[in-house]
Amino acid sequence: MLIAFENSGLIHRVLTSDGIIRYSFTRTEKEHLHFVCDKCKSIICLNDIDLPKIDMPDGYTLSKTDLFLHGTCKLCNKFK
Ligand SMILES: [Zn+2]
Ligand SMILES: [Zn+2]
Repeated sequence: MLIAFENSGLIHRVLTSDGIIRYSFTRTEKEHLHFVCDKCKSIICLNDIDLPKIDMPDGYTLSKTDLFLHGTCKLCNKFK
């Protein structure tokens, strides 16, 4: 079921730093940053922020950028 959604581009797979696969119900066309809330553990897609350009050393090819920003989300900041 989830795989079907994933293939249709309706959701995408997010692998967190602790090795847990989460799904984000956001349609995405481009690579983007993810924000992880350390309080509620939710993962938010930051589609509006440009990915930082990463200069790889000689001999390395970058195929995917999987960056996570950690902090406290909007909701947690509101209800702390
Ligand atoms: Zn939160
Ligand atoms: Zn995302």
